[in-house]
Amino acid sequence: MSQHLQLIGFDADDTLWFNEFVYAEAKRRFVEHLGRRLPPEQAERVLNETELANVERYGYGIKSFALSMVEAALTLRRQSLQAADIEAVLAITRQMLDTKVPPMDHSAEVVARLAGQYRLLLITKGDTWEQSRKLGEAEIMRHFAGMEIVADKTPEVYQSLLERYDVTPASFLMVGNSLRSDILPVAAIGGWAVYIPAEVSWEHEYVAGLQSLPPGCWQIKTLDQLPGLIGRIEGSTA
Ligand SMILES: [Mg+2]
Repeated sequence: MSQHLQLIGFDADDTLWFNEFVYAEAKRRFVEHLGRRLPPEQAERVLNETELANVERYGYGIKSFALSMVEAALTLRRQSLQAADIEAVLAITRQMLDTKVPPMDHSAEVVARLAGQYRLLLITKGDTWEQSRKLGEAEIMRHFAGMEIVADKTPEVYQSLLERYDVTPASFLMVGNSLRSDILPVAAIGGWAVYIPAEVSWEHEYVAGLQSLPPGCWQIKTLDQLPGLIGRIEGSTA
């Protein structure tokens, strides 16, 4: 690869904003309410299993998660499900939607600095309404050339995005907290990727049996290490 980077893609949730804690707190409240008279780990397990089983049908996002909470509540309570249980699920959902997610450390300065050198693209999956509301309010978005809300992050989706932005995979680098969504599909099409693991990650993003990162991929601990790493990548490909 001798071409310089032209486009840097950023994941949003748990890369630029802390998002997973919203779900962790919702799960804690669900277990607290629905798990009464049950072993707490049973309520949590049923909710997690229901959520994972529903992702393909419902997609990502808080409203999809709300449907999974209703289904998990039915599984746990069966005939004894009460209006109060559904009220609790709706209250948890409203709180999730109203929570303002805080930015990750260093996100504003790193994005501003890289925007001076590269075109930046925000690539996030999830519910369009939820994501555009969240991103529309964010000051940081003025640094981005575009915002793409995709149904899923597959090699094909990245490939077609790059075609639309007229960039080859060798000139594209993706930054994100998910091996499954941000790193492996980009490596698969010959792009570059920087993995920044989040402290709390969703089970769905876990990739079993992966021993090491594929070629063209790096791992750093925090966003402030990104500009230096990109400088070294550019140096090694010049
Ligand atoms: Mg993410």
